[in-house]
Amino acid sequence: MHELSLAKDIIDTVKQSLPAEELPKVRKIVLEIGTYSGVVSDSLNFSFEAITTDTELNEAELEIIEIPFRLKCNLCSNETEPEFPMMLCGNCGSSNTVVLSGDELKIKELKILEN
Ligand SMILES: [Zn+2]
Repeated sequence: MHELSLAKDIIDTVKQSLPAEELPKVRKIVLEIGTYSGVVSDSLNFSFEAITTDTELNEAELEIIEIPFRLKCNLCSNETEPEFPMMLCGNCGSSNTVVLSGDELKIKELKILEN
C-alpha cells in the first residue's frame, strides 16, 4: 500500500465533496480502514501532514477507525476474527469462509468547524 498516494486520493475526495470556501474549516477527516487493507496508519498520517502543510487543509487531521478482520464460516456459521492473512475459520478450521469486514478503505465523515 502506498500511503502517499492514498493521502492524495483522500484530499482529492474531500475537495470534490466540499465547496472551496469550506476547506479551511475541515478539522477532522474520519476514515474507516480495515486491518486487512494493509494501510499503515502512522505512515498515512505522516504523508497526509506532509502534503497538507501550507494548504487550505492545513488544520485538518486524520482520525482513523480500524475495522477488524472478520470471517464468517460457511460450514459452522460462526463469525471469528482470525489473524490475517489466515483465511481459516477460527472455530472449526474450515477454509470455506467469506470476509465480512477488514478490507474497508473509506471516508466515513468530515468534521467541519461550526461558525
Ligand atoms: Zn467454521
